[in-house]
Amino acid sequence: MSYPEKFQGIAVQDHNDWTHPKKISYEPKKFDDYDVDVEIEACGICGSDTHCASGNWGPKSLPLVVGHEVIGRVVRVGPKCHTGVKVGDRVGVGAQVSSCLDCDRCNSDFEPYCAEFITTYSQPYPDGYVSQGGYASHIRAHEHFVIPIPEKIPTHLAAPLLCGGITVFSPLINNDCGPNKKVGIVGIGGIGHMGLIFAKALGAEVYAISRSSAKKEDAMKLGADHFIATKEEPDWEKKYASTLDLVIVCASSLTEINLEQLIKTMRIKGRIISICVPKETEELNLKPFQLSGITIGNSQLGSRKELIQLLQLVADKDLKIWVETLPISEESVHDAFVRMEKGDVRYRFTLTDFDKEFRN
Ligand SMILES: [Zn+2]
Ligand SMILES: [Zn+2]
Repeated sequence: MSYPEKFQGIAVQDHNDWTHPKKISYEPKKFDDYDVDVEIEACGICGSDTHCASGNWGPKSLPLVVGHEVIGRVVRVGPKCHTGVKVGDRVGVGAQVSSCLDCDRCNSDFEPYCAEFITTYSQPYPDGYVSQGGYASHIRAHEHFVIPIPEKIPTHLAAPLLCGGITVFSPLINNDCGPNKKVGIVGIGGIGHMGLIFAKALGAEVYAISRSSAKKEDAMKLGADHFIATKEEPDWEKKYASTLDLVIVCASSLTEINLEQLIKTMRIKGRIISICVPKETEELNLKPFQLSGITIGNSQLGSRKELIQLLQLVADKDLKIWVETLPISEESVHDAFVRMEKGDVRYRFTLTDFDKEFRN
């Protein structure tokens, strides 16, 4: 049996053997009046996928199909849908598939912070159905979380925008990134490389901040105006004292950052915003005295409105993120997971060729 009764996906079977996912077929969630079915053409690979698959974020209901940077074509539209989505449209689904759409947060375009947030995979809906992600033939999601993709953006470059891209874009636009602002991006592999591109496109003066100078050439190509190698430049915090208006921390964990040094590079009222997704158990220790005149915060994902804004910016300015494509299969998901663990990716993976794996 296949669609619409069953979806197929490449699923993690066991957290202890998470790098060997297997192809399965599974039941989709019940089709609701506001749901849209998408036949998937590509899916980006996000750090969250490996965290969830490996059990870093606690045990999940298995088997689990991860993937939340989904691009595909609409094949079915619920009878009450009113966003204008139509069969045949190319759309994206990011890391969120549901929220209440009625609270203060949802009503002010901050639905990633809704108390009833449901993430694209591994989380039960109210009826108990556990959401399944995009390394799959299809995905079913509420229309609000199904985003139109501008024609100009190629599918493999659109996918990573749906989670990684929006996660770094949202704190930029919510913290006044723009002309006459000096913006630092800490951690420039992975999501950070998109941060450099977007901060530059928004008009800021951009500082790439990395441990070594290994990625300097790439960072300058991506749009950085300055490069700081923190392990190679002793006293870097003195050289750049009171310089930055905004820093987005894209490292794997905020606890690996020397905040004492970083804070010294901030201008008064500067903001350090983390988009790190560390292990569940990590805790941040801070000396409150250090925070003199600056703010530290966290940002997660971005709203439908912000996604549409990001996609328009990428289309209008013809921005090109750096993506390596892999045709989806059990083997290539395995290879990608192993390479992600080693940090061996420049700077994002997109799984492609879903037709060959799921529809021949
Ligand atoms: Zn809400
Ligand atoms: Zn993600």
